[in-house]
Amino acid sequence: MIDLRSDTVTKPTRAMRAAMASADVGDDVFGEDPTVNRLQDRAAEIFEKEAALFVPSGCMGNQIAVKVHSKPGDEIVMEDRSHIFQHEMASSSIISGVLIRPVRSEDRSGHLRWNEIETGLRLGADYDSSRTALICLENTHNMAGGTVMSAEHCAEICEKAHVAGLSVHLDGARIFNAALALNTSVSALTRHCDSVQFCLSKGLGAPIGSILMGSRVFIEEARSWRKRLGGGMRQAGILAAAGMIALEESPKRLHEDHANARRLAEGLAEIPQLIIDPETVVTNILIVDISKTGKTQADICNKLRENGIFAFGWDSVIRLVTHCDITSGQVDEALAVITNTLRDQDLT
Ligand SMILES: *Cc1c(COP(=O)(O)O)cnc(C)c1O
Repeated sequence: MIDLRSDTVTKPTRAMRAAMASADVGDDVFGEDPTVNRLQDRAAEIFEKEAALFVPSGCMGNQIAVKVHSKPGDEIVMEDRSHIFQHEMASSSIISGVLIRPVRSEDRSGHLRWNEIETGLRLGADYDSSRTALICLENTHNMAGGTVMSAEHCAEICEKAHVAGLSVHLDGARIFNAALALNTSVSALTRHCDSVQFCLSKGLGAPIGSILMGSRVFIEEARSWRKRLGGGMRQAGILAAAGMIALEESPKRLHEDHANARRLAEGLAEIPQLIIDPETVVTNILIVDISKTGKTQADICNKLRENGIFAFGWDSVIRLVTHCDITSGQVDEALAVITNTLRDQDLT
């Protein structure tokens, strides 16, 4: 199978498994796991943040950030298609008691401009409205197609948010992909954010884990919430050992995933029934409009699956994601299968 559903399907490398087997461990709830501590220190150093916390998942990292930056009854503003709003099972309402106020980006990139964010803010001391506490950004923007937000764009939002007394959390699940596409550093892309989360387990290939970062005070509070949410993990150095390789080594090969995604997009753009502009594919995620095929995304995904390709669809689009377990040969193979599948008049 050629699994293009997501970069979450990546498996740990041989080097990761070897590092896991020989990891030096301790009780991380006591702060005594040397491998976890090393990973956290190294992440904080790379991102130029005061402190970092290893958490089991990106969702937990995001939800801890929302919790620490808000109090029950607050509102938090983010783009309509953001992961925290659409794909975290209303956790922010349950855990933090906050209301998410989604704002739909007018831009194809899905990245909100300050004037759009402003439409969702509630800052007055009104007797009947809640107050905005937090803005959440996402870089790369997953459901908008792995699009990137520049350092300047992010800095401008943070600056205006801070003037208004608001915090900014960045869901940087794929921030290393963004840094590569923008030819900059992850620290430049996250410098002004009050907190940032990135996933070790997606394109970076670790089996489990994310890192949440921010000020020392923020991370102290985050550590308490990780424990309350059941994320205190004892000998977690077994996982952090793989995470360390993901952090140090994997970013060096992400350009292969981006090149594969671009090639896939260029190939798909040749198929008349598909709508995709290869110029818009700047990282490892492609969103292809299938509305001209006259088929549903489910028909197409099912047929592709029968022919050895896993894709993920909704509405009238399918999403394809390249990652470290996809070779350029498999991109060619996928293109051939997709071309044949769409040529076949009788999909069902
Ligand atoms: C995958 C993802 C997450 C959540 O990460 P998990 O480790 O799957 O919980 C958060 N934000 C974005 C943008 C993601 O793509």
